[in-house]
Amino acid sequence: MRKPVIAGNWKMYKTIGEAVDTALALKPLVANANHCEVVLAPVFTAIKTVADRLEGSNVHVAGQNCSTQVEEGAHTGEVAAFMLRDAGARYVIVGHSERRHLYAESDSMVNKKARAGIAAGLIVIMCVGEILAQREQGIAENVVRGQLTGGSSGLTASDLDRIIVAYEPVWAIGTGRTATPEQAQEMHAFIRRVFAERHSPEAARALRILYGGSVKPENIAGLMAQQDIDGALVGGASLEADSFAKIVNYKG
Ligand code: PEP
Repeated sequence: MRKPVIAGNWKMYKTIGEAVDTALALKPLVANANHCEVVLAPVFTAIKTVADRLEGSNVHVAGQNCSTQVEEGAHTGEVAAFMLRDAGARYVIVGHSERRHLYAESDSMVNKKARAGIAAGLIVIMCVGEILAQREQGIAENVVRGQLTGGSSGLTASDLDRIIVAYEPVWAIGTGRTATPEQAQEMHAFIRRVFAERHSPEAARALRILYGGSVKPENIAGLMAQQDIDGALVGGASLEADSFAKIVNYKG
């Protein structure tokens, strides 16, 4: 059984005070959500405070990014995965499309970040997804295959236990244009097949694959009804406790 994960990506929004307020408002609203893991990814500066305030609850904290460097050192502006863990994070997002497209992150960097996250004992949420032109050219699967192959290169079977993939078609992120449940299911099934070929059928069966791209309270149930959709990575609709709680509580 793959336990679903509903993760909120707060991107570069919210001061520490605002992040704590939203996290504390969310906590009671999702206290009975035993059907899934609930995760919030605040900005780096808010991780420690939010994690402390959520301690003992069923809401966990993620970093939105981490350094490719495993060890501390002279890397101005970087934050190591083990420092996220030290601050209270249990997950880290790597390879988000905003990192890939705005900050030129390559698959090899995503792979290094994933390894650093695993080495620090974090669960890694690795994002993949095509841009609109690639979908229109009919090469979406090739693009996603390349990102998965590059991102998970050299990972051992036990490393794979700590990897979650988030399929986020770039044309659906922050645009209000969601992939249909069928489009998402088709790509999720493809991702599972790629994992079976590259790694093993067992790893593929156990892999949790989240969908991300304009997920809202109104469309989460249709997405979650798909066989290969194991949760969601939610941007805009996670910023308000009420709407994120409705997504987490999609089972009603
Ligand atoms: C995201 O940032 O990962 C995301 C999916 O954003 P949104 O839900 O706003 O499309």
